[in-house]
Amino acid sequence: MAEIKPGNKIKIKTVKEIIEGRLLESPQANLYLIKLDSGYNIGVKKEDVVSIEKIKEKKEGKKKGEEKKKRQKQDLPKIDIIMTGGTISSRLDPETGAVKWLTKPSELFRFYPEMFDIVNVRKVKVPFMKASENMDYKDWQVIAKSCEESLNDKDCEGVIITHGTDFLHYTSSALSFFLQNLNKPVVLTYAQRSSDRASSDASLNLQCAARTAISDMAEVVIVGHASINDNFCFAMRGTKVRKMHTSRRDAFKTINDKPIAKVWPDKIEFVGKYNQRDNKKKVKLDLSFNERVALTKFYPGMDQELIEWLSGKYEGVVLEVSGLGHLAIDEARKNLLPSIKKATDNGLIICAAPQTIYGRLNPLVYSPGRKLMKAGIIFLEDMLPETSLVKLGWVLGHSSWRNKIKEKMLENIAGELNKRLEE
Ligand code: ASP
Repeated sequence: MAEIKPGNKIKIKTVKEIIEGRLLESPQANLYLIKLDSGYNIGVKKEDVVSIEKIKEKKEGKKKGEEKKKRQKQDLPKIDIIMTGGTISSRLDPETGAVKWLTKPSELFRFYPEMFDIVNVRKVKVPFMKASENMDYKDWQVIAKSCEESLNDKDCEGVIITHGTDFLHYTSSALSFFLQNLNKPVVLTYAQRSSDRASSDASLNLQCAARTAISDMAEVVIVGHASINDNFCFAMRGTKVRKMHTSRRDAFKTINDKPIAKVWPDKIEFVGKYNQRDNKKKVKLDLSFNERVALTKFYPGMDQELIEWLSGKYEGVVLEVSGLGHLAIDEARKNLLPSIKKATDNGLIICAAPQTIYGRLNPLVYSPGRKLMKAGIIFLEDMLPETSLVKLGWVLGHSSWRNKIKEKMLENIAGELNKRLEE
């Protein structure tokens, strides 16, 4: 048998099936890792292999950039990619075992070639590479600026941002508020499993992100697997989406809304409301942000000292409260009402978002809710807690809105409130 190396096109026979694809470097000695033509990676245990044969030699001696030129199809719609880090941009180095960032455009071509049958990638921008837990509003501002530059360029049809999963929905919310007068799609995508792993979700997510980036919408969306099957994705509104699972490929779910679209590599089907693309519009950046905002949960037994402490340090707080909008008052051993009243009298903006995640707060149903409303809490209806935090920082960043904070928090600016949500 001829020597088989990573990069070779191979045919593997096991007792159950015949698999054709490109052999990748495997992170495990007992496993063949194969990239199928669909872009999906699968692992085959060496012990299950009956025969393995090389179909095509890996072409040696390609010069840098040659692959890019060959793969890019000039007649396809042009988009820009902003890479920011996370699993989608990382790869296990099989030799050292260390995780490395994929930052070069040529690496994107090598690992995710399928995407380049849908779009022509004009620019790959890498403002920074970090895990999403290490980002804050300054990073969101950098990404927004980079988006604006691309979106206001007439040659660019849309933008894809590759990003870590854990705090992706904070960034998608921030971009939804920072990018005003949006003209084209801004598509954030991710991977739960990196490209070197069998069953990586990156290829399908990127192909569907590409299809969305050239679509008819002008929305900030997260695009990712719709189910654990590797067949289609959802495009989910950036303010109405949340990571709901630690490891599943369909970790992101639309909450209190419908997805905007179902997306396959070769088509997009709109299923929800969306703003239409308008290439003639110019995006306006509104990067205002006041970082003296906090997000915290109410929990039984919460001490009023916490509210007092927040009151001295912060300008705005989002509290996750019970289903309809309650927290401990009246008969509670630790009644929080006096400290809440005092804090709001002293100027702390306290907003409430539902700890149940799904559903809408309704403080008018029972008297505790009404008392908390009277004490100055702003109840944010069905807005997600994370979106509420980002919006509060953005609203408080505008000094001219000082007298209309409640009005602004309850104004539907980027689809963050859904009046039509069924009760
Ligand atoms: N902690 C990583 C991040 O959010 C995990 C990931 O990329 O999914 O950046």
